[in-house]
Amino acid sequence: MEMRTQEELHGIVIIGGGISGLATALGLHKKGMKSVVLERSETLRNTGAAIAFFHNGWHAFDHLGVGDQLRAKSTLITEMHTKWVHKDGTGDVIPIGEEGLRCVKRSDIVDALADSLPSESIRFGCRIVAVETDPVTSFHAVHLEDGSVMRTKVLIGCDGSNSVVAKTLGLKPPNLFRTQVAQAVTSYPNGHGLSNHFLYLWGDKLLLGRVPIDEKTVYWFVVQEVNPKDFESKEDSRVVRDLTVEALKDCPAEVVEMVKRCRFPYIESDIMDNDCGWGCYTLAGSGTIQGAGTALEDAVVLARCLSQEMPIGLSESKMSDQEIQIRAGVALRRYARERRWRILLLSAKSYLLGSILCASWPKRFVFLIIFSKILGGKFSHTKYDCGHL
Ligand SMILES: Cc1cc2nc3c(=O)[nH]c(=O)nc-3n(C[C@H](O)[C@H](O)[C@H](O)COP(=O)(O)OP(=O)(O)OC[C@H]3O[C@@H](n4cnc5c(N)ncnc54)[C@H](O)[C@@H]3O)c2cc1C
Repeated sequence: MEMRTQEELHGIVIIGGGISGLATALGLHKKGMKSVVLERSETLRNTGAAIAFFHNGWHAFDHLGVGDQLRAKSTLITEMHTKWVHKDGTGDVIPIGEEGLRCVKRSDIVDALADSLPSESIRFGCRIVAVETDPVTSFHAVHLEDGSVMRTKVLIGCDGSNSVVAKTLGLKPPNLFRTQVAQAVTSYPNGHGLSNHFLYLWGDKLLLGRVPIDEKTVYWFVVQEVNPKDFESKEDSRVVRDLTVEALKDCPAEVVEMVKRCRFPYIESDIMDNDCGWGCYTLAGSGTIQGAGTALEDAVVLARCLSQEMPIGLSESKMSDQEIQIRAGVALRRYARERRWRILLLSAKSYLLGSILCASWPKRFVFLIIFSKILGGKFSHTKYDCGHL
């Protein structure tokens, strides 16, 4: 790990080297703006299962310059098959559209983003414990666990759902939702033999999703009401797998078998929030709302807003501190404005989807009507275009 002097000054510091932090750094890099990503773990966190992206996510990947290499590692899915366990597996086939969706292993995404960045832009082993803002300059002091301090003109919090940045800057904690998601990848060395569709299997207060990544691997997730028992054991993947299998007792044998065969299932609670701050700091990615597609959109919009206000970057800039403060504030307010309505819509959709899962049948019916008639249905948000970098 690189040695740090006691107090370094940076133009832009990004806290968190997950998909959001890396994508934001890459967006800025593509606009010629330097930033430094501070990640608490000692190496790249390229574990996890996989993530499905619709058109909106691929659009952002393309602008970040990694779209084609990730497309090559995925399969195009153009149909969704919705089935109901209690109706003997009958259901509907819903076309997703020509653009469809593609599912990519999380490791491939993290590696592609990190490999596109200059190596010195990511620093590992940097756990942030607190952030302070200078009331006069609005610049930030970032305190690391090892006692060192970094100063930065602009601070971007991409440190996930329990964001230290959000906490120390006084933002509300994220709203934890009533549902939890277990997810994993299952490999079939001789091929899975499934057709290229996204299966949505509704059970009693349970939803299973299954998407092929390529001919030999399948990504799946199981959403259900939060079960404290599952959360106590979330670190032990064998227990997560056994509890998930137990929850699928009424489901077809092939999906139960898929879950039994998986390695390293991973469980987390759903979050929803829509606060992203202003001044010379902001949040992006799952610090604001769950979802890697939204994290990528945030990265593109944020890099665009900052580079429009500071076309020659921050480190090289001859601007006075006061001018930087004003321009950064303008850029981050524009970012917050551009995403406000989108995040509100996504929050409403997440809320309704979770409610459909946990509600009684009459309430489910009402929620489904609101979901499809007022909020535009399952796929309306996937047509969103975050624009160019
Ligand atoms: C290991 C892992 C596996 C995942 N697997 C899946 C999956 O299979 N499918 C899926 O749909 N979603 C998965 N997710 C979630 C998904 O990646 C995110 O919801 C989405 O990509 C938004 O990413 P993010 O960068 O905002 O947040 P995150 O992916 O949570 O990344 C936040 C990053 O910030 C770092 N960090 C947090 N606090 C600090 C701190 N105080 N100081 C410094 N660094 C800090 C974390 O170590 C992490 O690398 C996973 C997340 C992680 C961390």
